[in-house]
Amino acid sequence: MANINRTTGKALRAHVAGAGFAGLTAAIALRQNGWDVTLHEKDSELRAFGAGIYLWHNGLRVLEGIDALNDVLHGTHTPPAYETWMHNKSVSKETFNGLPWRIMTRSHLHNALVKRAHAVGVTVRTNSEAVSAEADGRLTLQSGEVLEADLIVGADGVGSKVRDSLGFKQDRWVSTDGIIRLIVPRMKDKLGDEAEWDNTIDMWNLEPRVQRILYSPCNKEELYLGLMAPAADPRGSKVPLDLEVWVEMFPFLEPCLAEAAKLEAARYDKYATTKLDSWVKGKVALVGDSAHAMCPALAQGAGCAMVNAFSLAQDLAEQSSVEDALVSWERRIRPLTDHTQALSGEYAANRSLSKGNMFTNEALEAARYDPIKRVYSWPQNQ
Ligand SMILES: Cc1cc2nc3c(=O)[nH]c(=O)nc-3n(C[C@H](O)[C@H](O)[C@H](O)COP(=O)(O)OP(=O)(O)OC[C@H]3O[C@@H](n4cnc5c(N)ncnc54)[C@H](O)[C@@H]3O)c2cc1C
Repeated sequence: MANINRTTGKALRAHVAGAGFAGLTAAIALRQNGWDVTLHEKDSELRAFGAGIYLWHNGLRVLEGIDALNDVLHGTHTPPAYETWMHNKSVSKETFNGLPWRIMTRSHLHNALVKRAHAVGVTVRTNSEAVSAEADGRLTLQSGEVLEADLIVGADGVGSKVRDSLGFKQDRWVSTDGIIRLIVPRMKDKLGDEAEWDNTIDMWNLEPRVQRILYSPCNKEELYLGLMAPAADPRGSKVPLDLEVWVEMFPFLEPCLAEAAKLEAARYDKYATTKLDSWVKGKVALVGDSAHAMCPALAQGAGCAMVNAFSLAQDLAEQSSVEDALVSWERRIRPLTDHTQALSGEYAANRSLSKGNMFTNEALEAARYDPIKRVYSWPQNQ
């Protein structure tokens, strides 16, 4: 598609609602393809929520495609292995055949995307909350302003107002387990010699009660801890952290847990799943958690969101009408996200990762996808 609107003779215009990983990626990719892009964020500043994040080969390739990879890689960590422990004994060590993956803080990734959005000329509006959209390309803001565009992208997260205003048929549910996510200092020298502390260690306990810690080093200084417990467990789900109940189960992590317990702003979050009959309506496309929030077992919610946002700009560049491009985009890219969402949900519901060696070829399908070449390019010799 030429990136010119035939009626106005100006560059095609997009309004993107939501400056999370999905909205930022969509805005950058569209802008790189010549679109005039405004990104609307309801908050007063652009910032990331949550603690750490895993990005796999698919998400890293998107970063390459939007020229943000080098900025992101500096200050992130790839552990030598992903270990799984059950009752504090190692049951597996996975290395994914060399498949690229990285752990980083969310703010690190978000800052790099914001920097790239500014560099390519995305117009950013904070305190700009979208309240509804129309299939003909109108976006209404909380202020009452109505904006017209060739494309509206609803990237406004799990509680999406853009989505809800358009009347999609939707199934939404939340998990029975949840997680407290925190960033604490690494303190490797204060931990014992029970483990290789540069690894990711997925520490499960199913007896006498269900408690899991996903130990994930982000860089030399920062450690991402994900403390999982059922919502029905008042002590495991308590924030700020109930130090005693966590140290009892994971005594070797006491120095890190003591730091974690000091964090007053900690949150316990359940996992949301959203499944829609369609991701598009006319000139409106939904990307990210607004379209397909998923359980985090496979750590692919943001990865899929970024792939889908990047792929949207690709399909728009190749079709002669926005509406047609959105339809073929959903047809092309959605099956992989649906599959990943279903498997991630199944893993979360059955606590399958506790068995170890669960990152099978099928579980890594989304991670193996290369959105630039549009093939499953890993392992490289396949
Ligand atoms: C416990 C947990 C761990 C996870 N770990 C990983 C992982 O390791 N790897 C991975 O790939 N994924 C992971 N995910 C999933 C990932 O966090 C999400 O899929 C991803 O952040 C979704 O990005 P988004 O941009 O769609 O939504 P969000 O991050 O929710 O961003 C939405 C943005 O829109 C703004 N907004 C909201 N409403 C409006 C509005 N009406 N108008 C304007 N702006 C609005 C918000 O303020 C926000 O800035 C995890 C999820 C959970 C719950």
